[in-house]
Amino acid sequence: MSEKNTILICDDEPDIVNLTERFLQLDSFKTLTCSNGKECLKGLEEKHEEIVLILLDLMMPGLSGFEVLRNIRSKEDYKDIRVVLFTVKSFKEDIEKGKDLGADGYITKPFSGNELRDYIKKVLNR
Ligand SMILES: [Mg+2]
Repeated sequence: MSEKNTILICDDEPDIVNLTERFLQLDSFKTLTCSNGKECLKGLEEKHEEIVLILLDLMMPGLSGFEVLRNIRSKEDYKDIRVVLFTVKSFKEDIEKGKDLGADGYITKPFSGNELRDYIKKVLNR
């Protein structure tokens, strides 16, 4: 069985994906990246056994992060995978909606590398 140490980063902004990937690799996480919801679900289907957490942007063209989250939480195979939402601003409604749909937390953009890594560690340890 493969080790569960991969974080899937899904965001339509390449700069966010690249930065996030660099931060996480410093912490020796493996990373997979994608730029839309459809790819995210495909990546999960193929690699869900390795994926421990998904960083999921809410605002993307095509499927929104909420739709992706709803799909993830409808599948038994993905129940142990943590989902952390990327929100542009801390819109209270988005955070509440994300929580209702089964998100494990959220990070408000922009964030520092340290904030990101500390938050992910917190989510993985609980
Ligand atoms: Mg976006």
